[in-house]
Amino acid sequence: MGTLYKVTCSNCSHVGELSWGDGIFHLQFQCNECLKLFNIPRKAPRANRNGREVPKFLEKQDFRTTSPIPLEEIIRFTDDNLRSYLASRSDWQHGDDEWVDYEIEQLISLVSCECDDDVMKVSDQKQLKLSCTKCGSSNIECLKTGTSD
Ligand SMILES: [Zn+2]
Ligand SMILES: [Zn+2]
Repeated sequence: MGTLYKVTCSNCSHVGELSWGDGIFHLQFQCNECLKLFNIPRKAPRANRNGREVPKFLEKQDFRTTSPIPLEEIIRFTDDNLRSYLASRSDWQHGDDEWVDYEIEQLISLVSCECDDDVMKVSDQKQLKLSCTKCGSSNIECLKTGTSD
């Protein structure tokens, strides 16, 4: 779950709200340079490669016993696939498989800014550091308002 903040820019008085940290259905990253936040889906939209064992009485449409997927049958995504998945946020909750590293890199490159600096994983341990989405100032007041999913 992420933490919700009300953010107020001391420079231009812009007020916004943001969710800091990973959510149930997304992972969050941040650019080291411009401090922009990026969310990517937590899971890949394909069957879980390891399969799963679900007792009969617990089976549901989305949650049933499946067999492990042979490596050569695991779906590979094109950039277009990834782009449209990124755009349809309501589908993120249906993802079931782990991303592989190069897919995460690809997803980040599709959503991130143009800066040359590194994009880092956001975590609860990472210190909250932000810039105003309007004027770019990092002189910002953050007020914790709750948690998000
Ligand atoms: Zn940046
Ligand atoms: Zn501002």
